[in-house]
This record gives sequence, structure tokens and C-alpha cells, in this order.
Amino acid sequence: MDSEYQYKQRQVAKNKGKEFRLGEGRISGYCSLMLGGLSLLAVIAYLYPSMLTTTELRKLYDAEQLQVVLKYGMYTSIGLGFLTFILNNGKYKFLGLTGISLTLVAFLLGGYQIPVGPVEPKELSLGVDWLILAFLGSIVVFVSLEKLFPKYKDQLIMRPEWGVDLFYFCFNHLAISAILVFANYHVSHFDWAVSATLQQSIRDIPIWIQFVVIVLCADFVLYWEHRAYHEIQLLWPIHAVHHSIENIDWLAGSRGHFVQVFSERAMVMIPLYLLGVEQAALNIYVTFAALQAVLIHCNVGISFGPLKYILVTPQFHHWHHSSEKPAIDTNYSAHTIVFDRLFKTYHFPKQHWPADYGTTQRLPRTVVGQTLYPLKVWGKRMKRRYAK
Ligand SMILES: [Zn+2]
Ligand SMILES: [Zn+2]
Repeated sequence: MDSEYQYKQRQVAKNKGKEFRLGEGRISGYCSLMLGGLSLLAVIAYLYPSMLTTTELRKLYDAEQLQVVLKYGMYTSIGLGFLTFILNNGKYKFLGLTGISLTLVAFLLGGYQIPVGPVEPKELSLGVDWLILAFLGSIVVFVSLEKLFPKYKDQLIMRPEWGVDLFYFCFNHLAISAILVFANYHVSHFDWAVSATLQQSIRDIPIWIQFVVIVLCADFVLYWEHRAYHEIQLLWPIHAVHHSIENIDWLAGSRGHFVQVFSERAMVMIPLYLLGVEQAALNIYVTFAALQAVLIHCNVGISFGPLKYILVTPQFHHWHHSSEKPAIDTNYSAHTIVFDRLFKTYHFPKQHWPADYGTTQRLPRTVVGQTLYPLKVWGKRMKRRYAK
């Protein structure tokens, strides 16, 4: 019984050697490196926009205005690179040096002055623009939240396996147009279910109600899709990759097998397509869903007051990632807690947070190992079946 379960406090060991401290040159070194890397990526995207930027996203930003941001980013990278040299005469120098070098290459390729013209839309491209904007936005919003309101203040930004999760973050953003093409193809199979009358009556209601309708319909689909991944034995090894995270933060939420990433977007597209809501409501939903998906993984201890009785919050989703017995196979919802309540999979002891995260059987700790993990499990099962 849940009421008899002894909840424990999670222990996060302090790691003084790896902490970011002002004045050591480490923060400036990593920031220089990050800005140098992003600047170089941005310049390459300006050179080859039809291959490296996303048609849907280009409509939402002004490429010329973003060159001003790029300009400041490049100069800041060089400035912080030099600061690293001033502050540190040892091991962090190479970070500043690499940051400056990447920015200089970006300058040599044309810097922030590459002419911006009309871009030939391509169905498939790499979302370099999406990756850069999402990464910068996440650092500003979510890392700040984690620093201001941490749940575990000794958990480091560069905690174990951050590189693995950074890879997933990059992959999910670069693959955006492939995901959209796949999702649109998938949804075209549902043409038979489109009702012009239903769509018209939905468009007649106020935008904010349309938004609530999408949230609930999308949540219903995501709930059952997620539950299927947990409860159908064949599917679990794919979803287990997302659950292999043992240190949860804004970046960790990106971890997921590519099959899951593609299928999740394709499934959520069905209600969006059938409802046919107005673009404004759809835009609000997409923004809300993207922010919430990152927020619920964040290392933030905010309780969210009465909102926690309606929406999925970090504490609620952290329980979904717990490997403790009462929490296993609970809290499937993505947006609201409605369907977990309704279908009796709700686990939310509000006084407690999980003590242990991850899967009961540990997964490989590399991207390749995790990508091949389902094949390994299925192979083993087949072998066992034929050995009988
Ligand atoms: Zn799950
Ligand atoms: Zn999650």
C-alpha cells in the first residue's frame, strides 16, 4: 500500500571540484566555447539556409534581425575567451582558446554579414536554426529557473551523462523537419475521419477554449500512447531509454529513442489535425507543450500552488521517472493530471519527491548502446523462446 511506503530523501553528493564558481575562468571558458560553437553553426546555416534551416520556423523570425544577435554573440565569445586567459593560467585556457578559434572561423566564413535572400523551401532539411534558438532559449529560461529555484542545489549543470543528453537534444532539434514530414504523412491516413462540421463548430468558439480543447484531446492521445509504451512488453525497451535518466534536469527530458520521438509527434498530430482549430490556438498549444515538456523535467522545487491539481508539474513528472515501487507505471499524462486521475494511474505524494530515478534494470550509458537496446532485448527474448 502507498500509505505504508517509507519515502526517503534523495541524496545528491556535493562535488566541489566540478562546481561552477565565479572568478575561476571555468564559466567564461564554457560560455566562450558555447557561443563560439553556436556562432559557427549559425554562420554555416546562413550560408546554406535551404539545407540547414526549417521552413516552418523561418516564417517566425527575421533572419536579418537575428544577425544582430549573432554579432553580439560572436564578440561576447571572443571577450569571454580572453577573460578565461586573464582569470586562469591552467586547465580552462583551452576552453577559451577553442571558443575564440571557433568564432574566428565563423568570421572567416562571412560572420554576421552574409546577405540574406529568399530561401528555396525544402521538404527535408536540418533544423540548425531550431537547434540554436532552442538551446539559447533553454539556457536563458530553464537553467536560470534551476539556479534560482533548485530542488537539488548540489546537482551540477554538467552532471553525469550530460553529454549523452546534449546529443539527444541536438538530434531531436536537427531532425525537426524529418519529424514533421513523418507526422504529416502519418496523419494523412486519417483523412476519412475529418468532419467539416466539427471543425467549423470548433473554430466558432473562442481561441482560449479551442486551446483547452486541444490540450485535453492531445493529452488523451499522449496518455494512452505513453501508457502503451509502459504496459506493452514489446514497446517498453524503446521507452526505457527515456527512463534511463538518473539525474533529471532541463536537458534530460530530451533523452528518448528516436522511434519514440517520431511516434509521439505523429500520434499527437492526429487530434490536432482532426480538430482543425485556428492557427492562433495551435500556436499557443505548440508553445505551451514545448515549454511544459522541458519544465516538467527541470531540477526546480517550485510547488506551483493550486496549478499542481490541474497541470503536470515537475514534481508530478519526476515521480513518473522514479524507480520506487509505488511510482512505477504511474503519472503518464503530458499536460494535465485529468487522465491519470480518471484511469487510476495517479501517484503524487505532495510532501515527497523521489529518492531514486531510473529503470530497475540499468540500460547502457551511451547513445549507441541505448539506440540498440530494444534490438538487444528483443533478440534475447526470441532466443529464449526458441530455446524452449
Ligand atoms: Zn514513461
Ligand atoms: Zn520524462
